[in-house]
Amino acid sequence: MSKFLSNLYSSLEAYTPGEQPKDKAYIKLNTNESPFPPSPEVVKAINDDVINDLNLYPDPEVSMLRTAIAERFGVNKENIFVGNGSDDVIAFSVMAFCGRGGRLACPDITYGFYPVYAQLFGVELTEVPLKEDFTVSIDHYKNFECPVIIANPNAPTGLMLSLTEVEALINQNLDRLVIMDEAYMDFGKASAAELTKKYSNLIVIQTFSKSRSLAGLRVGFAVANEEIIRDLETMRFSFNPYNINSLTLRAASAAIKDKAYYDDCIDKIIENREETKITLKEMGFKVLDSKSNFIFASHPDLSAKNLYEELKNRGILVRYFGKERIKDFVRITVGSKEQMQKVTEEIKNILKG
Ligand SMILES: *Cc1c(COP(=O)(O)O)cnc(C)c1O
Repeated sequence: MSKFLSNLYSSLEAYTPGEQPKDKAYIKLNTNESPFPPSPEVVKAINDDVINDLNLYPDPEVSMLRTAIAERFGVNKENIFVGNGSDDVIAFSVMAFCGRGGRLACPDITYGFYPVYAQLFGVELTEVPLKEDFTVSIDHYKNFECPVIIANPNAPTGLMLSLTEVEALINQNLDRLVIMDEAYMDFGKASAAELTKKYSNLIVIQTFSKSRSLAGLRVGFAVANEEIIRDLETMRFSFNPYNINSLTLRAASAAIKDKAYYDDCIDKIIENREETKITLKEMGFKVLDSKSNFIFASHPDLSAKNLYEELKNRGILVRYFGKERIKDFVRITVGSKEQMQKVTEEIKNILKG
């Protein structure tokens, strides 16, 4: 730390992304990316015309992409906010609706970026414990008047609240904001996006990084009522109105329109997920009922840290958190059929000792 860093940030603990080692070719099942390439339409969209126009600033209104996303969700462009990854969207939301002296509530076991943003923006965070079985109990949020953020399906558990439960959470207090982080919802198929037409205290956030095979492009978005979107736009125009570059604009617009391609990828992942759950259970694992593109599992005879290390030695990366309550678990991203066969085969070998 240099002597110039503001005191505000002297104790800031930055987010630790999943490792992306380059020492050898790994089977990457540690950061929930898609094993499939993006839609062929994405490749076509990044054409010479777009590249030749890179001397110009991109459209700060992000109109083309907002319109394309709005069409998909049956809402207006004014109901869509776009960010450089959904992390960007979450950051703007925490900044706008909790910032400096405000408060935020989220589960104790969830996406690791929420506490970091809370700290960065001077927000007091309350971590609400998940139940013993790792599910979210909406009853625990009844008395919170501050904004609530919940990943649904939750990470790293993969467990999902039903749409009925989400609507009940929203209805607990219509003067309180509920932020649903639906990074994995395409694999759970119970999005609350439709509810944004009915409730003005709801923000639904999704990403192109997981189900849409575009983690490297960096795009995420929010669906909400017009006033909320205008507030987020005020934040964005006060920070970086050009957070979506011209290539991203084109590529992501093409991706969101190719529903057929992605539906097919999503179905394959769900099939692989369900098969892998069964295989792991047969091997004696405790497997949470994931509705996402990863599986959270623990084994009574195998330390999770050991399993993580053994798999890494064998060229397979999974995620190990080593955090209280979940230190017996590894999180395995659901990849292609071949990748899942390979990982379960190696786990069998490790179990044999
Ligand atoms: C991966 C993930 C994100 C961030 O995704 P980006 O769009 O790549 O920034 C947000 N929330 C959760 C719960 C995630 O797992």
